[in-house]
This record gives sequence, C-alpha cells and structure tokens, in this order.
Amino acid sequence: MIEINNLKKSFDGLEVLKGINITIEDGEIYGLVGKSGSGKSTLLRCLNGLESYSSGSIKINGIELNSLDKKELKILRKDVSMIFQHFPLLGRKTVYDNIGFPMKCWKYDKKIIDNRIKELAEIVGITDKLNQKPTTLSGGQKQRVSIARALSMNPKILLSDEATSALDPTTTADILQLLREINKKLGITIIVVTHQMEVIREVCQKVSLLENGHIVTSGKVDDIFLNGSKELNRFLGNEEIFRSSNGVNLRIMLLENDDSKQIISKIARDLDVDFSILGGKVDKYRDKHLGSLLINFHKKDIYKVKEYLTNKHIVWHSLE
Ligand code: ADP
Ligand code: MG
Repeated sequence: MIEINNLKKSFDGLEVLKGINITIEDGEIYGLVGKSGSGKSTLLRCLNGLESYSSGSIKINGIELNSLDKKELKILRKDVSMIFQHFPLLGRKTVYDNIGFPMKCWKYDKKIIDNRIKELAEIVGITDKLNQKPTTLSGGQKQRVSIARALSMNPKILLSDEATSALDPTTTADILQLLREINKKLGITIIVVTHQMEVIREVCQKVSLLENGHIVTSGKVDDIFLNGSKELNRFLGNEEIFRSSNGVNLRIMLLENDDSKQIISKIARDLDVDFSILGGKVDKYRDKHLGSLLINFHKKDIYKVKEYLTNKHIVWHSLE
C-alpha cells in the first residue's frame, strides 16, 4: 500500500506540491492526471525516492521514504520502477542487453539473467527483436523494451510517466493493453501519469486530478465521470457545452444496463412528451461503455420526467 499524507515539495522556495493526500492499494491501477506543470512528474519522482520532500509523508508498505539512506533507496528502486515518454534505452546495446542491464548492475548470475530476459521478452511481445539495436525499433517496440527492463527486478510498483504520450492512438491502445495484462498477471500496482483522459478511461480504476500542486478531485473513475465532477469537466474543456435557454436541460447517464440505453424511446412512449437531444457521447471505461445524453425538456414536463427517471434508477443531473 502507498500512503501519501500532506506531502509538500518545493524547488528553490517555490512550492510545487502543496499538501498531497492519496492512498493506493496493492494491485490497483491509479491515474494521476493534470495539465503540464501541475506537479505529476515531481510526485512520481518522490515516490521512487529520486526527489526528497520538504514535509509530509510517503509510506510504501509502512516504510517512510524520507527515512531511507542512499543504499536503502537503491534497494527501494528495485521495488518501484519507472517508464517514461521518451524510452531512455542504451543505443549501443542490443534489446537483450538493455533488458538485462539492471540485473547486470546488481551482479545477477548470467544464466538467471538470460532466463529472465527471455521470459520478459515473451511477456511484452518482443522475442524476435532481442538481437536488434533500439534505433531499429518503432516507438511502440521501444516502449515494450523499456517495460521489460522496468520489470526485470520484479518490482511491486510500476510508475508510468506519460509512457504513451509519444505514441500514435493504435500503439497507445496496445501499450495500455499490455499494462493491464502486466497488472493482472503479475499483480503489480501501476501508477499512470498522463494528460490524456482516454488513458485514464482505458486502464485506471481510480484517479486523482492535480491542479497547480493540489489534488482537486479524487475517486473511482466511473464515479467521477457519473457525478460529472466540475473540476474534471474544466480540465477536459467540457464547460462550453451547448445549452438551450428555453426549458430545462438534463444530462442522463447511460450505464451498462439496458434500461438506461433504451431510456429515450421509453420516455417518449411512456410520458408522451417532446424533447430535443442537444448532445451525447459514449466512451469505453476499461471493460464498460458509459456515456451521457444532454436533453432539453419543456418546463411543464420536467417534474414528471425527473420522477420517471428516478423511479427507473436512471442517473441524471439537472443543468438548470
Ligand atoms: P508535470 O509533470 O505535471 O508537467 P512537473 O512535476 O514536471 O509537472 O513540474 C511541476 C513544477 O515544478 C513546474 O513548475 C516545474 O517547472 C517545477 N520543477 C520541476 N522539476 C524542477 C526542478 N528540478 N527544479 C526546479 N523546478 C522544477
Ligand atoms: Mg511531467
């Protein structure tokens, strides 16, 4: 378990983390989202001991990171490894040697290294690339090599700092799929830092939104989406939705059950009311499809529409 309590961090007197509180359970995929400069990378670097912090606490399985000396921090980094946007691979070494590099530094036995490299190459799907140099690989393949190397010391936690930001959408989806497989198969806790909301939707169970060194909202990804968090909408630039000034606008949430997906035809039939659809969308959240419709009703109908939706256990928000 990772417990971050009132964490503060300054650079040259300028506070960039301003009292962060997050708890991450073992085996979770946890997202940290926020604009550039909000403090995401700094927070990750505090988590693997690359940065110290001015006050507050980070405990990993009960151990306070600030209490560790250099040698202990080095050992910590076996358990907490990291992948980046620009896969920092060793250009002169083969994929094989890149993956084996951390084990070589820790003076592992050659035979063990060899077995482990082959095992990791299998997991990330690059068995046919082991003898190539990184420069001959695509971005997605390079990231697979980085992931294999990051897994080489059997970490318990994997930190991902914008690992898909330099990749095209299809490759991004493949890498995210790989991260989910690793999380499931190896039980590794993954913290995903990104500015891309689709990355959060695709892989994360929980998310915190960082704004200027503060966490402005945190929770389960679908809950935050369902509750229509004001902060998240601001981050996503969803504030400028088209609204009709006549009547009442309702946002009706479309969940996994059939009831909500058929609600439009049911309202029209059962209540005999007219309405206009102002907008709508459905997105994939891990294995679920969730969405919402923005609908404008006449004022005279709104009471019975709300009552009808509530009776049918449909989640809705009034945008009056
Ligand atoms: P993000 O990853 O969300 O883009 P960062 O954590 O990289 O944000 O940066 C947060 C703030 O901290 C920024 O204002 C950045 O300029 C500052 N910062 C980050 N690293 C350093 C450093 N080593 N020295 C001074 N300021 C830094
Ligand atoms: Mg960053």
